[in-house]
Amino acid sequence: MKLNHLTAHEILELIAKKEYTAKDIYQSVHYQIEKTEKEVHAYANLTEPASLSIDENKSFPIPIAIKDNMCILDQETTCSSNILKGFKPSYDATVIQKLKDSGAIIVGHANMDEFAFGSSTETSCYGPTHNPWNLDCVPGGSSGGSTAAVASNQAIWAIGSDTGGSIRQPAAFCGVVGLKPTYGRVSRYGLIAFASSLDQIGPITKDIKDSALLMNIIAGHDPKDSTSINRTVPDYTNSLVNDVNGLRIGIPKEYFIDGIDAEVKQAVLDAIETLKERGATLKEVSLPHTEYAVATYYIIATSEASSNLARFDGVQYGLRKIPAKSRKSSIVDMYEETRATGFGTEAKRRIMLGTYSLSSGYYDDYYLKGLKVRTLIKQDFDKVFKDFDAIITPTTPTTAFKIGEKTSDPISMYLSDIFTISANLSGIPAISIPCGFSSNDLPIGMQIMAKPFDEEMLFRIGYTYQQITDWHKKRVDL
Ligand code: GLN
Repeated sequence: MKLNHLTAHEILELIAKKEYTAKDIYQSVHYQIEKTEKEVHAYANLTEPASLSIDENKSFPIPIAIKDNMCILDQETTCSSNILKGFKPSYDATVIQKLKDSGAIIVGHANMDEFAFGSSTETSCYGPTHNPWNLDCVPGGSSGGSTAAVASNQAIWAIGSDTGGSIRQPAAFCGVVGLKPTYGRVSRYGLIAFASSLDQIGPITKDIKDSALLMNIIAGHDPKDSTSINRTVPDYTNSLVNDVNGLRIGIPKEYFIDGIDAEVKQAVLDAIETLKERGATLKEVSLPHTEYAVATYYIIATSEASSNLARFDGVQYGLRKIPAKSRKSSIVDMYEETRATGFGTEAKRRIMLGTYSLSSGYYDDYYLKGLKVRTLIKQDFDKVFKDFDAIITPTTPTTAFKIGEKTSDPISMYLSDIFTISANLSGIPAISIPCGFSSNDLPIGMQIMAKPFDEEMLFRIGYTYQQITDWHKKRVDL
């Protein structure tokens, strides 16, 4: 038995039975990192083994990978950008604090697209992460390092962030479970902001049970985050029930469009059929404003990003570049030099797009219009959820693409999130779970969406599905 291939709940049972210690588990993960990290490159940086604390008495002493945009006290946190090289936070993000309290063994910061801008983990200043199922392919993004770490068994579970699909899309590409919780369910304090009205932190795991367990650790109100919601957090493991009888599930016709890969479509339709056999009622529904989601997202997300990234100017965080003729240069020259050197191409593209949409004369036509369409997209969901408990779609239109295939075509890269973006614009929870493999052995994901704060519905449907199928049990043997 390979310990690092197990789920967290399986490991916790073994630890409880005293068959293994948390240290044994960490060692198996550490060995795997030594063996495969050169090929996979899931991590931006690894925690110094000397500073790792393994406390056998804590409830969840499980090795975890943390996306490189969450602040860890005294540990370099860079958003995989040159502009934050050398930045060591003076505090822990709330999620990190909760994980540390539970006994988590933080293996390292996982690689990501620079500032979470991307769908392939190719825009990282550390170079691309490779998909463990096929090293020539991308793992998806922007949490591709976190999903690749779990899929390559270099971590037992991981934490990602999702602004437009960045947990779910790479989860689908890497054959793992990725949940974007309801906006406000998990604190964003200490998450370096991309688009503050869309960002959510969520779990990346091998199965649904682990997803529920990790949510139990990280969810909840936080006075340090004014957008976090003060609402009781249920014990998510109570929703792990094998029963979908009588549930009403909507299948939106706008998500089964031309251009979607035939094998992806078939795998998701087969999964839907499986749930039908278990007594769920499935019916076609319509989310008519879906076609505007990508455009709306790229107006709103880039606007917020341009504003959030204004703080990286060489003064407080990370890199500072003083122009060569330093005696003559002003502080503005320093800002310019720092930002010109520190940000990569995609970050610059987004800052320019967002600044344009927010600028006087264009604000009404772009940003304000975007906000109005966002409301229409949300209303589509409100309407469907009056009569349905959940919505099922493919997570992505295709399986993982080749490294380099879309780097010179930003629009085609942006379209990889066509099915995931609407959940962020509407604030609703959505999960991607493995539901098949393509003929060339790449994982396929199905997305389940539910009403705000009804993560329990996602767990219930996902858990039932995993009792009947075993896609989530496949492991890469690297
Ligand atoms: N791929 C999308 C983007 O590039 C979503 C990223 C994310 O969710 N962080 O904006």
